Amino acid sequence: MERIRLGRTGLEVCADGFGALPIQRMSMPDAAALLRRARAVGIDFFDTARAYTDSEAKLKAAFEGNWDGIVLASKTMAKNVADFWRELDKSLAELGRDHIDLYQFHMPQQCYKPGDGTGMYEAMLEAKAQGKIRFIGMTAHRLDRAQQCIDSGLYDTLQFPFSYLSGPQEEALVAGCKAQDMGFIAMKALSGGLITDIAAARAYMGRFDNVVPIWGLQRESELDALLADRAAGRASGPEVEKRIAADRAELGGAFCRGCGYCMPCPVGIEISMCARIMLFSRRASMDMFTPEWQHKMAQTRNCIECGECAKACPYDLGPPALMQKNYTEYVAELGFEPKVP
Ligand code: SF4
Ligand code: SF4
Repeated sequence: MERIRLGRTGLEVCADGFGALPIQRMSMPDAAALLRRARAVGIDFFDTARAYTDSEAKLKAAFEGNWDGIVLASKTMAKNVADFWRELDKSLAELGRDHIDLYQFHMPQQCYKPGDGTGMYEAMLEAKAQGKIRFIGMTAHRLDRAQQCIDSGLYDTLQFPFSYLSGPQEEALVAGCKAQDMGFIAMKALSGGLITDIAAARAYMGRFDNVVPIWGLQRESELDALLADRAAGRASGPEVEKRIAADRAELGGAFCRGCGYCMPCPVGIEISMCARIMLFSRRASMDMFTPEWQHKMAQTRNCIECGECAKACPYDLGPPALMQKNYTEYVAELGFEPKVP
């Protein structure tokens, strides 16, 4: 089985990690069963977060008393030291563990450093000294912050969106991590559901010996697809290159990744779907023209142009304009304008 060394942590994990965000949408028994099955087939790196509601509790339900061989990562969105300790203790209690292997600042507003006045990095060091965490990581969605994380030399791992739709800038982050002996954890390896070709996605990941993708699994069938591709061996050759090139041509550049950082919208628009609904309609086998989706698309007409989503979008996409483009195409395909609620 392919193993990846998570940089200077020295931890070696299965080349396919488990992203435990989507298990929030599963029942407790189903999630526990899926996690246990993943473990049984050799997946040993699980990434969760305090912000993923009951994800940590589901990991506990799956592995309590049997964490052997598992490398567990979690994250905190705390913005001050008091919340940092509250969140860490809550995570440990939810997980039923006395330590977390890799603890990450979850999309922090700055790259925390010792002496920056926040006390946040010092809190990580103290948690490490107390044995509550083993290694320190950071997650980011912005290239500049990710670069700061690498340049700081303070972090053992970086977690960043990375897929074959990424560009040279993201690939430079991977190289930067390698140069600093940092592990690189790839979130959104299927680009939020827009990549449907798992073989091509895994083939791309296989090009980087310091990258661990965390596949966001929430169905047995998704785990089956992953296992089938593993059994077949990583795809390679001109055929897979052609598929990647075709997807890049169709999707590359200014497309919404569905990260949701632009929300909540003050008038309740579901920006993260409405800004990419046509991509979903074309690529995923989902009916995006149901009355429910018509209603959501009609809600985009209520935008008051407050500008908050544009400020928050890490990809500088200008969500209102993107939604407008999607709305125009949506109406053309639907054949009529949905009624504005
Ligand atoms: S600009 Fe429009 S879509 Fe964006 S947050 Fe404001 S109201 Fe919502
Ligand atoms: S518009 Fe930007 S912030 Fe909002 S979901 Fe899409 S990529 Fe994320």
